[in-house]
Amino acid sequence: MADIIKLLPDHVANQIAAGEVVQRPASVVKELLENAIDAGATTIKLVIKEGGKTLIQVIDDGVGMSATDARLSFERHATSKIQKAEDLFNLHTKGFRGEALASIAAIAHVEMHTKTEEDEVGTHLKIEGSTIVSQEVTVTPKGTSMMVKNLFFNIPARRNFLKSSQVELRHIIEEFQRVSLAHASISFHFYNNGNELFNLPSSNHRQRIVNLFGGKIKEKLVPVDEETQVVTISGFINKPEYAKKSRGEQFFFVNDRFIRSPYLHHAVVSAFDGLIKKENHPGYFLYLTVDPASIDINIHPTKTEIKFDDEHTLYAILRSTIKHSLGQFNVMPSLDFDK
Ligand code: ADP
Ligand code: MG
Repeated sequence: MADIIKLLPDHVANQIAAGEVVQRPASVVKELLENAIDAGATTIKLVIKEGGKTLIQVIDDGVGMSATDARLSFERHATSKIQKAEDLFNLHTKGFRGEALASIAAIAHVEMHTKTEEDEVGTHLKIEGSTIVSQEVTVTPKGTSMMVKNLFFNIPARRNFLKSSQVELRHIIEEFQRVSLAHASISFHFYNNGNELFNLPSSNHRQRIVNLFGGKIKEKLVPVDEETQVVTISGFINKPEYAKKSRGEQFFFVNDRFIRSPYLHHAVVSAFDGLIKKENHPGYFLYLTVDPASIDINIHPTKTEIKFDDEHTLYAILRSTIKHSLGQFNVMPSLDFDK
């Protein structure tokens, strides 16, 4: 029988990878914001139109890219963030897969302006469906602007699957909250259809929460602080009386990365045992810092799940830390829930 196996052309491989990384406009927002953070930006501007379906732009004042790097950044597995497998266990960046830009460029019209500190002039590069359309020298400030237009222009099935602009905007806001909560010292500006939605000055965790969710949240917050050999925990939980039927604000960050963890969530909820009704959900903003060698973040392309070396110890520490914080703030257990 004749040989039948062939290597997929790059643009096909990129489109397949994009299926994993880019579910909707909010996924693009996440990847671009994280790249801006990894570039050391101090100010990041996010501009979207129609829930990101027609335009997503992220402008940063980070390190920028040389003309060669600008081209290379759209190749698959092209990254400046890791060099060898061991680096995966000493990660200090959001990115490491080198797949986001290649994936996004495979399914959208992308335009990049970028310039490094040293270079006199910058690079303006256009790429559509994995094909570089043009690359020119341009005058642009230090940093990078990524413009992503017409998401899924070449995948009608995915484009038609997108929800209304309103729904897509809500997903983008959620992503924006997660990223900006994790990086309170960076200032963020967010515009939707020309209107300013958020203007977040550089601040600390507490102030960032207030700037995102409004001044009323101040009275709800109980600080959490614990340092052990395994983990440092900081942040806030909401007072039990503010627990709601709807899930509301529940955020875990591990080493400045938003993650989902039903297991750790359970640890928090169980610390509220007897303080809130079963059907209500406690709010929390919890920042965990652990040794990067003790976690594996490379288990899902979107990097929102983590494998911990010692999950059980973490669970126990988290639960007792939350209990301690609740106790310190004189929140008396009350079985009279009808008040
Ligand atoms: P990863 O972030 O996993 O490295 P990406 O595809 O997101 O992969 O980006 C590829 C590379 O392009 C990055 O490693 C980085 O060197 C460069 N890059 C991407 N975005 C920016 C940016 N906003 N500023 C500077 N460099 C960037
Ligand atoms: Mg990236």
